[in-house]
Amino acid sequence: MSNQEETSTKLRYAIMGGTFDPIHIGHLAVAEEVKQKLHCDRMIFIPSGNPPHKKRVLTDAVHRYIMTVMAVNSNPHFEVSDIEVERQGYTYTLDTVKQLQKIYGDNVELVFITGADAILEVETWYKADELLKLCSFVAVTRPGYDKTKLEQKLQSLQSKYGSVIYSIDVPGLNISSTDIRQRVNGGNSIKYLVPETVEQYILKNGLYKEL
Ligand code: NAP
Repeated sequence: MSNQEETSTKLRYAIMGGTFDPIHIGHLAVAEEVKQKLHCDRMIFIPSGNPPHKKRVLTDAVHRYIMTVMAVNSNPHFEVSDIEVERQGYTYTLDTVKQLQKIYGDNVELVFITGADAILEVETWYKADELLKLCSFVAVTRPGYDKTKLEQKLQSLQSKYGSVIYSIDVPGLNISSTDIRQRVNGGNSIKYLVPETVEQYILKNGLYKEL
């Protein structure tokens, strides 16, 4: 642990952003791992509302939000925010981070968690230069991920914007929301890939019948 971490009195809240269409146990495992490794005081899941970069039509944000709430329900350290789901128009991470900073104040460091591939593209995000100066990031990789490009990118982001970007390996859970949607669509089981409550919600509401 660095001296800075030892003496810091700031709280650290992690933001787990994603479409969560649907949320699955891979997302939960990532959140748990990051929480532990970075000593986060809170883990806030934020299902995205209407992201500008999505080509596929997303499942209604209310369904995605409810499934996320159900998934984290049993963990007292996890919570879900509806700030992106409630926002009208396109949702940008910069607006989300600014809104959270207003809510929590200066004594909280916000750390945005996302996949390593998203970090490679982060400079294309809305007002990326401002965003990269405003909060820290965590680039999540699975074991076996070739980090050559990522490490170069992290160095360049650090020298260009002074960004703090942690890179964390998480257990190799080979689960994706795309695969889950396809399984449901094909009438195949998703048992143990999502929490049981989420599985029941998907079946009860007939989600992913059409892709
Ligand atoms: P995504 O479609 O949810 O995720 C893309 C890939 O990363 C998928 O393989 C996904 O796996 C994985 N993933 C999703 N959430 C993750 C997480 N928290 N940690 C590790 N891996 C994760 O979403 P995305 O479009 O890349 O966006 C991710 C976040 O970045 C969202 O909060 C989004 O709003 C934000 N973002 C903002 C901007 C902007 O402000 N302009 C632009 C791009 C992205 P699964 O498919 O299994 O979920």
